[in-house]
Amino acid sequence: MTKKRILLCGEYSSLNSGYANWSRNLLNGLNDLNKYELAELACFCTVNETKNKKHKWKVYANSVSPSDERYKNYKSNNNNTYGQWRFDAVCLDFKPDIVIDFRDPWMFDYQSFSPLRKYYKWIIMPPVDSVPQRNEWITIFNNADMIIPYTEWAKNSLSKYKHLKVFDKISPAGVDYNIFKPQKLNKTDFGLPKDSFVIGSVMRNQKRKLIPALFELISKIDNGILYLHTTYPELHGWDIPSLLLEFNVANKVYFTYRCRICKEYHASKYIGVNASCKFCNNPTSMFATTSNGIADDDLSKIYNLFDVYLQYAVCEGFGMPQIEASSCGIPVFSVDYSAMSEVVRSVDGYPVPLSNLQYEMESHAERAYPDISKTLDLIDQYRNLSDNEKENLKLKTRENTINNYNWKNIVNVWSEAIDSMDISTKVNWNDPNKYEGSENIKLDYTLNNFDFVNTICCDLLNEPNLMKTQMIQHMLHSLDHGAVKEGSSFVPYSKKRAADNLERYSQHKEMVDHIRTTTGKINEDYIIAANES
Ligand SMILES: [Zn+2]
Repeated sequence: MTKKRILLCGEYSSLNSGYANWSRNLLNGLNDLNKYELAELACFCTVNETKNKKHKWKVYANSVSPSDERYKNYKSNNNNTYGQWRFDAVCLDFKPDIVIDFRDPWMFDYQSFSPLRKYYKWIIMPPVDSVPQRNEWITIFNNADMIIPYTEWAKNSLSKYKHLKVFDKISPAGVDYNIFKPQKLNKTDFGLPKDSFVIGSVMRNQKRKLIPALFELISKIDNGILYLHTTYPELHGWDIPSLLLEFNVANKVYFTYRCRICKEYHASKYIGVNASCKFCNNPTSMFATTSNGIADDDLSKIYNLFDVYLQYAVCEGFGMPQIEASSCGIPVFSVDYSAMSEVVRSVDGYPVPLSNLQYEMESHAERAYPDISKTLDLIDQYRNLSDNEKENLKLKTRENTINNYNWKNIVNVWSEAIDSMDISTKVNWNDPNKYEGSENIKLDYTLNNFDFVNTICCDLLNEPNLMKTQMIQHMLHSLDHGAVKEGSSFVPYSKKRAADNLERYSQHKEMVDHIRTTTGKINEDYIIAANES
């Protein structure tokens, strides 16, 4: 039997982001099973960065450096950074049976309306972090041949939409429990006060994370400190120095400072954006960020400085730090909403009751706010346990994490999903039928909006399935409104503009289909490099 050909679109598997870790663990796991042909469309890496690296699968680099003549085109559309500009070429070269993606819906939408869509099956795993899900996203999901949920909570939320093809098993994130493991450390060695009770949290500084509530909470605890491993300054993040003053907690909150020069790190109260490094004395110590990040080994040590871990956010699609902490045996407290409800229970942690749920305008979803005084009660409850009870809880916390969140199980779920996918119902890549374009065809502008677009998609483009994509639904919506949002204002939208957009789609489809039915060869550096690696 020939091996199924799988193209994974995501962040380059050799990077160190959350999505990149996913790519790496999934591709490695699937590769070990030795029954698939694998490739990745690697976002945020250039051809040069893939060279001189041994890859076990084909790697198609997606980005170009600012000095490259293609950079302007790359940056002209945000979706290009997610892979849109190279996706069709990579598909023509690799000819995948199945395309998979597990990023946010707006990052993979383009895969739903590619002119090559009928030649591959499409499996997605979108993070579902709150309900209701936006209509646009449900429209995108509806184009997938399979949706794998991250959590039971996501599975139940998505299963309410009867038309979606939701896989019956879940695939949560995994944790490397050989790195994130219990360690006996001396808090003072890292700059923390002796014998302090440490409430810890690890998060990117962003709106969704409830940093003000964390500060309010710690202001109400007499004999404890907050260790917040986060980022600052952030373009769209909380103003941490102001919050420290407002809640009067500057003496009770510690952050991770890491030196850009000597790379050493330590915990410290807030001492400014650029602080003097206590190891090399340069003024180059700053908050650890994605670009000045600390390695997982060190992050594991930071978790081990915590007495308890607290996840305070309005919602989470998963919330990785919870299981990194629990893998270190640290008891977890999380807001009892969305994926957090499930994760916290699965590691025998403490679900934090809500004070309220509120609709948020941007996401059109319900967001949760924790009850701070009940959080304090729960923390007291834990602190009143005997040493023996605490030790048992720590052991159970780690054991549950290893059982529930290991990559081996997750890879098996994906393998089962891939194996169950019937690829005989898709069109063969060698299908000789060729799209010849739609020149010299007169459009009937007297038709109503729906019929106008439907006629173009079905009769001219020969793509009836396009009608159910978000791209076309958005077009119909704009035609009905007579306007479309561009930047921060509305501009007129007419049938003429819709026809122009679809004309460009037609030209692209004609070009793509010409390559597919003739040589199939594309002379681009990223294609050549992928085939040499
Ligand atoms: Zn230094």
